[in-house]
Amino acid sequence: MTSCERGARHGGILFIDLDNFKTINDTFGHDIGDLLLQQVAGRLSACVREADTVARLGGDEFVVMLEDLSHLPLLAAAQIESIGEKILASLNYPYQLDMHKYNSTPSIGASLFGSQHEAPEELFRQADIAMYQAKKAGRNTLRFFDPAMQAAISTRIRLESDLRHAISEQKQLLPYYQLQVDSEGCVIGAETLTRWLHPERGIISPAEFIPLAEETGLILPLGHWILTCACRQLALWSKHTETDFLSIAVNISAQQFHQPSFANDVLKLIGQFAVNPARLKLEITESMLLDNIADTIAKMNLLKASGVNFAMDDFGTGYSSLQYLKKLPLDQIKIDQSFVRDIAIDASDKAIVRTIIAMARSMNLAVIAEGVETEYQRQHLLDAGCTNFQGYLFSVAMPIEQLD
Ligand code: C2E
Ligand code: CA
Ligand code: CA
Repeated sequence: MTSCERGARHGGILFIDLDNFKTINDTFGHDIGDLLLQQVAGRLSACVREADTVARLGGDEFVVMLEDLSHLPLLAAAQIESIGEKILASLNYPYQLDMHKYNSTPSIGASLFGSQHEAPEELFRQADIAMYQAKKAGRNTLRFFDPAMQAAISTRIRLESDLRHAISEQKQLLPYYQLQVDSEGCVIGAETLTRWLHPERGIISPAEFIPLAEETGLILPLGHWILTCACRQLALWSKHTETDFLSIAVNISAQQFHQPSFANDVLKLIGQFAVNPARLKLEITESMLLDNIADTIAKMNLLKASGVNFAMDDFGTGYSSLQYLKKLPLDQIKIDQSFVRDIAIDASDKAIVRTIIAMARSMNLAVIAEGVETEYQRQHLLDAGCTNFQGYLFSVAMPIEQLD
């Protein structure tokens, strides 16, 4: 616990009790019961990492201590949950005990530590209580001590499985489009924003499901799907002179971008739909520069050479150095909506916006402001030299039928 605290990480305790252990002792004798305990111990050790601890407290009670989990409580709880599920599955396999084939199940109680300064005894008590809740819930299951944590975990698990389903079925995900306009108010294109039409919950905001998709890797199929939608739409627009100049901006997650196949995937889609690559704008964020900057630059250069455009999304909210920024083949900088929101009343936001625009100009980059809601904001931005806009003043994100 001290070590987790020092590293500002969370840890977890799993209290594992075998269901109906007494029966095996009573039926087959203690020697066979001992064999079961030994095999359970072996399976538990195989489920955890080297640094984790597996212990037997006594009888049929085992404790697993997990260290070095995420610094975010909910994410750490999800990690405990996932290891707990692994243990549950592993202990559910039939055992060969001497001549007997035997099925056994565990009840598992879980508790998280590292958020507050808990006493070890208190932590054991919590995990023990949670284990009894697992028994009460019908055995062969896992429960968290904190009911709020349990609820949050259950919601997250349901959402994850629903999202997995939504991505494979694809009918529930919809590409919405939000207009981008120039200084005259003429439409120059749109940013595509994913919407999830959940069968029970209705429209779920990407602010809720994109982080989940990133945590679970589902962002990869999702990201490919939205890129495909964008290319298909560009192909349709290219057939008419009224629309063939319109561009589509697509949000690219760092994970997706760092896939070895990313550049190829994009080029393949461009070829498949025969779209003009100059109409496709990939929105990346400064977080992409956190690791493997050389790879990022190489990939961007490759795509850039094929005519694809790049915009730096949420500009001003990250920490990337201007030195790096200079090396990226960017076309556009997107001023984050947090600066736009208070531009009329906050002098420092006003100064930041002016600085960003001046810097972009000197680097020969176009500038677009997002989250523009009022004519007042638009005028301020225009006076500061910003020429492209996006926000509720012009349109919300909408389905393609409405945009057409
Ligand atoms: P973002 O890329 O910064 O997108 C802009 C967000 O601001 C959108 O929220 C948009 O609806 C909202 N917005 C637009 N105009 C205004 C305005 O005038 N005022 C205010 N208050 N808000 C405005 P949305 O659609 O909920 O998307 C949230 C975030 O989810 C996006 O932020 C983006 O980071 C992510 N996202 C959405 N779709 C995708 C996707 O297909 N792939 C990936 N990787 N990320 C996505
Ligand atoms: Ca964006
Ligand atoms: Ca943004």
